[in-house]
Amino acid sequence: MEQFYKIYFTIAFLLIGLIFGSFYNVVGLRVSKKENLLFPGSHCPKCNHKLKPYELIPVFSFIFLKGRCKKCKERISIMYPFIELCTGILFAVSFYKYGFSTDLILALLLSSLLMIIVVTDLNFYIIPDSIIVAFGILIFIYNIIDKGILDACTYVVYGLLMFGLMYALMKFGNALFKKESLGGGDIKLMGILGMINKPIVSITALSLAAFIALPCSIYFLKKNKDKVIPFGPFIVIGFILIMFLGIDTNDIIKFLTRA
Ligand SMILES: [Zn+2]
Repeated sequence: MEQFYKIYFTIAFLLIGLIFGSFYNVVGLRVSKKENLLFPGSHCPKCNHKLKPYELIPVFSFIFLKGRCKKCKERISIMYPFIELCTGILFAVSFYKYGFSTDLILALLLSSLLMIIVVTDLNFYIIPDSIIVAFGILIFIYNIIDKGILDACTYVVYGLLMFGLMYALMKFGNALFKKESLGGGDIKLMGILGMINKPIVSITALSLAAFIALPCSIYFLKKNKDKVIPFGPFIVIGFILIMFLGIDTNDIIKFLTRA
């Protein structure tokens, strides 16, 4: 019977994730362009056709509209159903792994941050300050619930340390490559993610991010002429992997000191 509820809620979280993903598309695109989140309602960017409720169903609308606007037949970006589906899967995996717990809140926060940043960083090569501030506050509130107010303040200091480290890395990278290496958004992002773990774990997450970004950067360098690599999403992926794999300070010390 317990297994039944677990599957039932996992599917529920998948569906909730699809709806949130649809909203994160809107958040990522409109916040980057400094537009209002709610008005006007969703419309085709080409012909302004106002979308009816049945054209707003995550993933499914894209499939039965065959990826085109109903009125002017303009192609709809594959990015929309991709973000919706990824958010749904991340929400479902988060619930399946953590059930109803404080860890679930953090997993959902990181999943949401990742999907919004994928939209902003891949489309505009930016991570808007309002997104950083909003998630910084949410992570701080999560820390108060999970660890208490005193520890939450200690973890703010950890965040500032990671911000400083990332800033130093940028200065070093700029001097080494004689061009802009890390974006300001990446540095601020590291500042808020640094509030989640002890610095040694955050540094491991950052290393993991760089390791995954390396093969992908070859693709980005070939594809875009500006030679910009959106690193933000990889940083969040690093932190999500560390969380889902359950890697903590002890594992890292054991790894570093093994004979
Ligand atoms: Zn249209």
